[in-house]
Amino acid sequence: MEIVNDDSELLNDDYFMYQALREARKAMRANEVPIGAVIVKDKAIIARGWNQVETLKDATAHAEMIALTSAQNHYGDWRLEGTTVYITKEPCPMCAGALVHCRPDRVVFGLRDPKGGAAGGWINLLDSNPPLNHKCEVTSGVLENECLALLQSFFKEARAASKLRKKGLSEEGLVE
Ligand SMILES: [Zn+2]
Repeated sequence: MEIVNDDSELLNDDYFMYQALREARKAMRANEVPIGAVIVKDKAIIARGWNQVETLKDATAHAEMIALTSAQNHYGDWRLEGTTVYITKEPCPMCAGALVHCRPDRVVFGLRDPKGGAAGGWINLLDSNPPLNHKCEVTSGVLENECLALLQSFFKEARAASKLRKKGLSEEGLVE
């Protein structure tokens, strides 16, 4: 277990969202859509994950899915009661479904997703007990601007790269 700081006053939602943003930057460096997640229990990070859909060629390899699997391995149990999951973007329906099954107490996310989010943006799978048998307390919009800025810079770069390719420049030409 990773004890991050003795001063528990500093270990607030912002602090852990910054940690999730660090994971998102790992995704960015790997040319993945930059989304990151960390799972916290008793002010300590027990699992981390970053989006690895392209790296693993796995459409289910979203940041929070990877973090959930890691946390379950950490405990040797699928029940994640007493934990808080921090994600830089509102979970999609797949991830929200997985979160409910793993039963964390809280889910905290940065960027809201009114089109596809399943934690209140489009639908809310985290607060639908019954029939899903568990409710997660949800906090949204934590460091939303930072989470948005990272995604925007990724898509801006991706668009610029695609434009250059269309102009017939080689991949090598894109490296700074
Ligand atoms: Zn997802």
